[in-house]
Amino acid sequence: MKKRILIIGSLNMDMIIEMKRMPAIGETVLGDNLSYIPGGKGANQAYAAGRLGGDVAMLGCVGDDNMGEKLVCNIAGSGADASFIMKTENIPTGTAVIYVNEKGDNSIVVISGANNACNVEYLKQNDNLIQESDYVMVQMEIPLETIMYGIRRAKELNKTVILNPAPAPNPKTLPEDIFENIDYITPNETELIMLSGQTKISPENIREGARILLEKGVPNVLVTLGEKGTLYISRQMEALYPARKVEAVDTTAAGDCFNGAFVTALSEGKSVKEAVIFANCASSIAVTRKGAQSSIPDRKEVEDILK
Ligand code: ATP
Repeated sequence: MKKRILIIGSLNMDMIIEMKRMPAIGETVLGDNLSYIPGGKGANQAYAAGRLGGDVAMLGCVGDDNMGEKLVCNIAGSGADASFIMKTENIPTGTAVIYVNEKGDNSIVVISGANNACNVEYLKQNDNLIQESDYVMVQMEIPLETIMYGIRRAKELNKTVILNPAPAPNPKTLPEDIFENIDYITPNETELIMLSGQTKISPENIREGARILLEKGVPNVLVTLGEKGTLYISRQMEALYPARKVEAVDTTAAGDCFNGAFVTALSEGKSVKEAVIFANCASSIAVTRKGAQSSIPDRKEVEDILK
């Protein structure tokens, strides 16, 4: 029996502008290409969970504009329930403007826009959705106050709470009780090192970082290690689940695919080990394709590899 998943998070449109070289201040250059790619960590994770067969709904905000409409349609197209996503007036949909030159260097401006309207009041209005869910997953691209309210409320209702701490937050800004209210935390290496107040990535520091999070009260730490796979550390055990060997072409949204797949597998009653193997497999497919949501595989593709 599938349990219900709720993802609370961001929706962004990535506007990618390709050009030979970036303009200097005051200069105009002609660009070569313009593309719009649906993204935002919350949206990517909801999309992944939907496409991989999860019974998932999303809470998040877009502007009342074409971009917002496109993002909501995309989520709905994955099979996730996008009907509770709020359209806000007078605030634009979250947008990342990405300049890429011919060497592949980029400069990025992120406008959070409607993601800032994803506030506590909105979560309160949708409390029934939190009540009806079994798994609640959040990331760090909406206001911290909303993240904390969502985590505390979900825990109060005895839900399983998963935090993907991305982008890496400054640990000094986080209320200490955040860790006691989380069941699973899923940082990548950089996020783990930052969260645990260390400076250098090394295998020892990764273990030490995971131990620090366990001490703060998170029972399950899953560190995604890119092509090396995923390290799982709890008070009882430690295991490295290796990644599939693939020819990676674009790792955008690998972490989001991992998180959406992981929660989907947990919601089906799979063990942590089985859920990590499923998520490693799904994200190994995603890195072989370009784009964010467009790279995320469907259920059959993952099962064909795992059988
Ligand atoms: P991103 O920010 O690029 O979305 P991330 O840094 O949050 O990703 P990673 O740790 O790079 O997350 O990757 C998440 C998961 O994706 C890994 O645990 C692994 O299972 C899979 N993965 C990533 N890169 C590769 C790769 N080159 N080959 C196979 N699997 C990969």
